[in-house]
Amino acid sequence: MPFDGAPFNLFERPFEVGLIQTAHGDFAFDRRRLLRRLPGTDDWQLVGLGGPVARGFSGIRVDADGKLRLTTWGGVLQYDPNVPEPALVPLAVKLDGWTLHRAGEPDLRLPLQPGLAPTLHPGDRLSFEAAMPSLGGGVELRYRIDGLESAWSAWQPPGRPLLTLHLAAPGDYSLRVEGRTRNGRLGTPLRFDFRVAPAWWQTPWARLAQVLAALLLVLLAAQWISRWRYRHYLQRNRLLEQRITERTAELEAANRKLAELATEDSLTGVANRRALEQALNREWERCAELGQPLAMAMIDVDHFKRFNDTHGHLEGDRQLVRVARTLAERVRPVRELLARYGGEEFAVILPGADVAEAVTRAEAMRAAFDHPDSATTVSIGVAAEVPGPGRSPADLMRAADQALYAAKRRGRNRVVAATE
Ligand code: GH3
Ligand code: MG
Ligand code: MG
Repeated sequence: MPFDGAPFNLFERPFEVGLIQTAHGDFAFDRRRLLRRLPGTDDWQLVGLGGPVARGFSGIRVDADGKLRLTTWGGVLQYDPNVPEPALVPLAVKLDGWTLHRAGEPDLRLPLQPGLAPTLHPGDRLSFEAAMPSLGGGVELRYRIDGLESAWSAWQPPGRPLLTLHLAAPGDYSLRVEGRTRNGRLGTPLRFDFRVAPAWWQTPWARLAQVLAALLLVLLAAQWISRWRYRHYLQRNRLLEQRITERTAELEAANRKLAELATEDSLTGVANRRALEQALNREWERCAELGQPLAMAMIDVDHFKRFNDTHGHLEGDRQLVRVARTLAERVRPVRELLARYGGEEFAVILPGADVAEAVTRAEAMRAAFDHPDSATTVSIGVAAEVPGPGRSPADLMRAADQALYAAKRRGRNRVVAATE
């Protein structure tokens, strides 16, 4: 009869189901499974026999001795209701082994005592092998790692390895493994705690040391750079100073040379004393060669101190310029020379002029100032001679100077010629 209620739908092939009612309860079976309903209850329960012999159930009966006998492919199983049921062997998941894979090192099979575990570091990989020994077979395991994965893995057969774990971060981990048999018995779960220690460079002290080292490095670099720049600066400074010294020396030399070369009086624009001496020597030689006389006139502005006191030094300078210009107008170019000898004194070289001619020329110069429009007068001393052995230009000049003094002594604004 068709029947769609329990227990027949528990079987894969309900038409093969055998059923027997006994004093020990009702039994139902097909080739693979045996179910039992205890007297006075409604529930059918799977009888997990396990073992290679408990396969291919084909018949069941209760014999006269009261024992229930079950025919299988492998033999006959006997159930004596008078023998108390043995306590179930407790099931427990246990760790079979674990292996440490560390880069650059051979794999290390670790001892099972957790106390002997080596220090684990980030980057290590761990393989775990777990098992749940049972006679029943069909054991399945699942795992979870607290601190890493909060979800349970899928149930899986206890192959090798159960899982391989990559330890990324330091911390405390706990591996939990649960096991069950095919007929639903749960074993005592396994719990295995392990710790991944930070690498030495990840410890707080190491981090602090790293920061300090970096700071020190920056400091040293900054110090080195500043020292280098200071040295560089000093070196540049030295170079600059050296160049300035060189330039200054060059400039001083150039100035000296310029001063030596200068032949012009800066205030009046006429020749200076140096040029006078050069011209005097030159003309002395020349007149000596030609047998000609050489004349010289020394001209001094009269009472010039008084002029300065009255009109001031600036006006005195202007007056000196005017005197020089007036004298220059009475000196012939090329061979004759007008020079400022110093202060308010001038000198004129007159090559080829004898005393008489020199006096005439000097007189013309003196007369140029001897009128009411002129603020000052001049006194002039004149000397002339034909240069000869035993005499020198200095002698000529001295003679003219003495004549000038004589002119001053005799009352100024006059020309006096050297007599000897
Ligand atoms: P003496 O008639 O005896 O020559 O009288 P002095 O006052 O002209 O002669 P002294 O030697 O006593 O004085 C010369 C004066 O000439 C003094 C000085 O102030 C003035 N003097 C000399 N050189 C310069 C110059 O370059 N500029 C000006 N303004 N005055 C000068
Ligand atoms: Mg004077
Ligand atoms: Mg004077």
